Amino acid sequence: MPHTAAPTIDGTDAHPPLSASLWGATARPAPTTPPLQEAVEADVVIVGGGFSGLSTAISLAERGRTVRVLEAIEPGWGASGRNGGQVIPGARHLPDELVDAYGRERGERLHRWGAKTADNAFALIERLGLDCEPVRTGWIQAADTETALDEGRQRVAGLQTAGAPARMLDRAQFRALVGSEAYIGGWIHEGGGAVQPLSLVRELARAAMKLGVHVHGDSPATAIARDGAGWRVTTPNGSVTAPRLLMATNALTGDVWPTLREASLPVWSFQIATAPLGNARVIPQGQSVSDTRRVLRYFRSDSHGRLIIGGKGKASAPKHGGDFNLQRETLGRLYPELADRPIEHGWGGQVAITIDRLPRIFALGDGAFAHIGCNGKGVAWCCAIGPVLADLLDGADPEASPMPVTSLRTIPFHRLRRVYVAAGGAWLRLRDRFDR
Ligand SMILES: Cc1cc2nc3c(=O)[nH]c(=O)nc-3n(C[C@H](O)[C@H](O)[C@H](O)COP(=O)(O)OP(=O)(O)OC[C@H]3O[C@@H](n4cnc5c(N)ncnc54)[C@H](O)[C@@H]3O)c2cc1C
Repeated sequence: MPHTAAPTIDGTDAHPPLSASLWGATARPAPTTPPLQEAVEADVVIVGGGFSGLSTAISLAERGRTVRVLEAIEPGWGASGRNGGQVIPGARHLPDELVDAYGRERGERLHRWGAKTADNAFALIERLGLDCEPVRTGWIQAADTETALDEGRQRVAGLQTAGAPARMLDRAQFRALVGSEAYIGGWIHEGGGAVQPLSLVRELARAAMKLGVHVHGDSPATAIARDGAGWRVTTPNGSVTAPRLLMATNALTGDVWPTLREASLPVWSFQIATAPLGNARVIPQGQSVSDTRRVLRYFRSDSHGRLIIGGKGKASAPKHGGDFNLQRETLGRLYPELADRPIEHGWGGQVAITIDRLPRIFALGDGAFAHIGCNGKGVAWCCAIGPVLADLLDGADPEASPMPVTSLRTIPFHRLRRVYVAAGGAWLRLRDRFDR
């Protein structure tokens, strides 16, 4: 049952109900995910019912493992049901930056794997027949400065080396695809695209259950402890004991695993959606677009021709129309002819930001792992990560993982996170202004 209240998880910021969003209004119905009511055993227990937890559950079930997914509220309650639905291939880093961060062999391996995340996400959608409005006409990165365009050229070169269908767009080509004069050009990755994200996460839950996974909504993990050779995860009305454990709680990680929440910063991002634009429709071929500003703006159309615009949110959940002024202003800047169009939906969600903007897999010890921090690029990444996490949970050598696996690393002075986020936002806005 979708929630109408706005519960909190273990002290994290309250989220508005999913029904407030465009996705909530247009998604496939939620599957029935009864709460855990007993003490059970499984091969693997997964905490968190978003793309990461569910794609991993599917991979494990396909290998014959028994899996329980514990979701505090309902599948998609976190970022997976609230995001922009842009299927963006790879991480934001240039291949050289990944080599600097992880060394040549690991950095290049991660780059090659990242370049295929959108292929893998769309393949999963097709293979399981997930009904989520997939559109594969590409993802465009828009540049409004020469420096940004130059960086785009480096990205395109790196992606082409990994065999990805990426190319530069000059101003005229950009204008024809995006319909906005606000940028000087950009580049396109033709492997990217868009989905209805809440439908996708609900369909993943449905597919997991068809494979025998038990997905429990309304089942927050309230305690995790060692139990013999395994882990016991306790919920208000039951428990799961399993030798293997995955934490897939992202920005909504509370205190149930000490210090895991300190590995990323939860940052609000808000979106608005216009009414269907009919003949005034922009982005005629339906690409997804993000720009290169430090305070990022992202936009796309949905399958009914609504324009969806997202960007930086306030310090807490949106409460009234005025909280979306920045997104309305962006609409007017990008498409002046649409500035007065009625806005049908406004919503927000929390993005888990890491200091270097790279996602993390942590080995928590004794068969337990965490996957968090996909920043603003988790739709493709977290759908593609299932087999990687399933390998680790099955005992594969972490050294062989395409994504580096490290011990838990926290952000120093995390208790000052609200100060970091506010000061960081102001600093990035200032740098955007000086770049222009
Ligand atoms: C507003 C917004 C826009 C975005 N736009 C895009 C985009 O267009 N493209 C893109 O690629 N990425 C985008 N992202 C990022 C992307 O949505 C995330 O990276 C991705 O969804 C993370 O998936 P996840 O499964 O790891 O985490 P989540 O989907 O956040 O799932 C974590 C789950 O854990 C549950 N949970 C937490 N604590 C507990 C507990 N104690 N017990 C049980 N369950 C618990 C939560 O309820 C939640 O459902 C956006 C994010 C936001 C917030």
